[in-house]
Amino acid sequence: MTAPASIRVLPIQVASQIAAGEVVERPASVVKELLENALDAGAAQISISVSGAGRRLIEVADDGHGIPAAELPLAVERHATSKLTSAEDLFAIHSLGFRGEALASIGSVSRLTVTSCPAGEVLGARLQVEAGQVESVEPVGVPPGTVVRVEDLFYNVPARLKFLKKDVTERRQIDNLVTRYALAYPQVRVQLFQDGKAVLQTAGNGNRREILANMYSPEIARQMLAVDTIYDDFNLTGFIGPTGLTRANRREITFFVNGRSVQDSALTAALIQAYHTLLMVGRFPMAVLFVSLPAEAVDVNVHPAKAEVRFRDPGRVFADVQRAVRRSLLAHTPVPDIDAGRVWGQPAWSSDVESRPPWTYSESAGKAGAQAGPLPFHTAGPGDVPAQPELPAGRVPLLRLVGQVANSYLIAEGPDGLYLIDQHAAHERVLFERMMKQRAGEIASQALLEPETVELPVQQAGLLEDQLPLLLQLGFQVEHFGRQTYRVRALPALLAHLAPSAALRVLVEDFEEDETPLQAEEEARVIGRVCKRAAVKAGQVLSPPEQQALLRDLEACRSPRTCPHGRPTMIHLSVDLLERQFGRRGPR
Ligand code: ADP
Ligand code: MG
Repeated sequence: MTAPASIRVLPIQVASQIAAGEVVERPASVVKELLENALDAGAAQISISVSGAGRRLIEVADDGHGIPAAELPLAVERHATSKLTSAEDLFAIHSLGFRGEALASIGSVSRLTVTSCPAGEVLGARLQVEAGQVESVEPVGVPPGTVVRVEDLFYNVPARLKFLKKDVTERRQIDNLVTRYALAYPQVRVQLFQDGKAVLQTAGNGNRREILANMYSPEIARQMLAVDTIYDDFNLTGFIGPTGLTRANRREITFFVNGRSVQDSALTAALIQAYHTLLMVGRFPMAVLFVSLPAEAVDVNVHPAKAEVRFRDPGRVFADVQRAVRRSLLAHTPVPDIDAGRVWGQPAWSSDVESRPPWTYSESAGKAGAQAGPLPFHTAGPGDVPAQPELPAGRVPLLRLVGQVANSYLIAEGPDGLYLIDQHAAHERVLFERMMKQRAGEIASQALLEPETVELPVQQAGLLEDQLPLLLQLGFQVEHFGRQTYRVRALPALLAHLAPSAALRVLVEDFEEDETPLQAEEEARVIGRVCKRAAVKAGQVLSPPEQQALLRDLEACRSPRTCPHGRPTMIHLSVDLLERQFGRRGPR
């Protein structure tokens, strides 16, 4: 065994780099700290410029109260803050910063320049820090406010550089962060530029829906439901997605607590719980919610990056969030009428439907669907449907078409009972397998009579750009046509009936995934999206030959039981089950 090295106090520079690691993990964390400082300074306008995904430059300029020249060297010192004086203050914090660590941390892992001029002063000052050392302070004539410039982030911590993700990912983190803060502070004018391109520009007029439109699309902004609830000293505002607008992960769920962006799994759980039974299994809601509570009800000093908080009464916050969200959701969402109980239990022609007990189509569905949740509003919804009774393994047997119900479902008879088929999901499956097969050869493409230009929001344009080669394979002919504009020359034949702009939007819809998946997966996802748009819709009348053809095509599929997104295409009611339901046979 080698002798242990003797214990030494670390050189100050090493110690501060270690401490910096907790606050400054990636470019987006620098943006967050600087943005919070600008907000704490009471800025009405904040302009952020980023280049090289934040590795080369991050600059945040504000018109806030500024820093007096004499205090400038202190601002970049560790544990130097103007926002806190005693430990008691920690329990009633009204500012975003309070640890006095951010500028010191950033300064130890970059080349930092802080230029500031307090309102009313003629002359301001500029301070330069390199690797934690103050290099110079000099007087300068600048407008009131503060400009913090961070260059060559992590230039002296190569290990940290290696942990950064691809530029697209780091850039997206910054975009997401700034957009969310802009939403949280709609009275502040926020601008974000990435490599000279404007990604976000808010008006500062307090209109949150306008910012949402920039963040997603005008269409999604229109669909988002407003939440605005007050229970005593608990206040919840913001937006939640309607049940029809979901994501495959939790990334589009954002919470602010007292103006601070936080990650809190309990708040997220409360939100998801509020959607209980209203969403498909594996789908997550979108939401941007702002919780406000008395300062003393929240402990914000839990995490160096201030990304977590602790509530004095977590149970109450959980219940309040869940209740408020559920209320807004139900106020805007008609109770879904595709629950298993009603497909057959309440035919439109029956007049005494209300008096009948709800009917469950199988024991397994009953178990999975009717969990005794804590919610007073439990309704069997589409979320319960995937728990369909087991089908015999493998493909579907030959089916005899009986007809179409509600212009949405096909009824068919098989050797072992009845099959209900969701025409949209089934068609999606059929198109998906067809397109995946064609992909090996050539996907049918249809040239537009006249090429059309389509303009996309900046973020989506960037995402589309990465996918151009794949799109070509899928039958799109799209070329970049300056800034956020693309020119479409041809579409896959399957999408030929859509407007080119709608067809392109289909592709970028779900691109906001963080990591680019494997090429093959990405391809399947894009194809899945195309098929979703191209498939017949629920509510669309199909002629008997069309119904017949859909059934035959589905039988020929390799995985006929689910749509490409994993929803069931069919529900099977076995003869055995029917007999038991009609009381011809006792329950097993
Ligand atoms: P904290 O925000 O926790 O106080 P920081 O290291 O982020 O710590 O900032 C240190 C101090 O520098 C702040 O307390 C504040 O007085 C001053 N400061 C930083 N950024 C700005 C700004 N944009 N405008 C005015 N003052 C600022
Ligand atoms: Mg700060």
